[in-house]
Amino acid sequence: MSNTDTARCPKPIHPEFAFIGRSNVGKSSLINMLTGRQKLAKISGKPGKTQLINHFLINDNWYLVDLPGYGYAKVSKSKRSNWQDFVLKYVETRQNLMYLFVLIDSRIPPQKIDMEFLDLLGELQVPFVLLLTKTEKLSKTQLINNMEEIKEAVLENWEEMPEFFLTSAKSGQGKDKVLDFIESAMMNFSID
Ligand code: GDP
Repeated sequence: MSNTDTARCPKPIHPEFAFIGRSNVGKSSLINMLTGRQKLAKISGKPGKTQLINHFLINDNWYLVDLPGYGYAKVSKSKRSNWQDFVLKYVETRQNLMYLFVLIDSRIPPQKIDMEFLDLLGELQVPFVLLLTKTEKLSKTQLINNMEEIKEAVLENWEEMPEFFLTSAKSGQGKDKVLDFIESAMMNFSID
């Protein structure tokens, strides 16, 4: 089910894991890679077009949630604050949300908008994990350098580095680790 009205989302009876990131970070591709379904999430032709919350029920026992991307240049300021309002309200209040996966492009220097988003999550106490995307594009040395820069930027405001995984939708890197992480986190789910 796809929805912008958070009140009409599926009942929170299964554990949920949500994916978010700047538009074009590779979120749709990663969701498709993790699920092995090439067309589950639509690879965005036009940045900023998807403004829905999409729920996918996986194996009849968890929800994968595709949240709209942030930071697209073409959307007006007022629209952007609408985005913030409804997405932040969603991640803050959704009872069955186990973790939010925040996608960060491994190829580019740390982006202010990503760091600000992590700070907001900290304020709201939303548990998150970082997924560095498109890693196959980089040499090992470049990847290590970029990872260091990202870590430094995160640690400006965080005491510890949050958990993170290296991923590539193209090479499949990270698939097993992310799915194992989800599987073990799910064991802590209870409805009450
Ligand atoms: P979204 O806007 O975050 O959903 O990003 P998309 O999944 O639509 O991907 C944005 C662009 O990045 C597309 O051109 C993808 O083909 C490309 N892309 C996504 N994942 C990868 C990856 O793992 N490696 C490489 N090289 N390109 C990727």
